[in-house]
Amino acid sequence: MIPVIALVGRPNVGKSTLFNRLTRTRDALVADFPGLTRDRKYGKALLDDHEFIVIDTGGIDGTEEGVETKMAEQSLAAIEEADVVLFMVDGRAGLTPADQDIAQHIRTREKTTFLVVNKVDGIDPDTATADFWQLGMDNMFQIAAAHGRGVSGLINRALTPL
Ligand code: GDP
Ligand code: MG
Repeated sequence: MIPVIALVGRPNVGKSTLFNRLTRTRDALVADFPGLTRDRKYGKALLDDHEFIVIDTGGIDGTEEGVETKMAEQSLAAIEEADVVLFMVDGRAGLTPADQDIAQHIRTREKTTFLVVNKVDGIDPDTATADFWQLGMDNMFQIAAAHGRGVSGLINRALTPL
């Protein structure tokens, strides 16, 4: 089976930027992946010989009722569908209460999870990541999704030994 990676995190951390980077070299959108529902965006990606499905979450326009609930539902559903969860946070903004909430959700699930500190371009990566150790995740990666830095190393690690 082709592995599934879910991108989870509060709005604006760079999930869609990473999704687009991972999927842009392919016919990205997966329209007919069986059993999948809408409001999560599925793409096919190929990176360093790894083929995988990537799920972007948080793709709602904000006009629905109970947006936060709906986003949380989407994230939880994506986590259920995934083999690997990439929990994204913003290295420039630092740790937020929303990050803490999401970490709590993820902890209730038994999924392989990587904490991905994004936007480390132009800032000191170690300073950027220092706060996030509080989330208690063992696997922390530093990336800049907009530029591609760290992305290949992250995906290679995330898909080994799947
Ligand atoms: P999402 O809401 O989690 O999907 O976040 P987006 O992918 O829409 O990105 C939110 C904002 O962060 C956009 O303005 C992006 O250009 C910016 N962004 C994403 N990745 C990076 C990065 O690696 N470095 C910097 N400096 N900005 C980034
Ligand atoms: Mg997005």
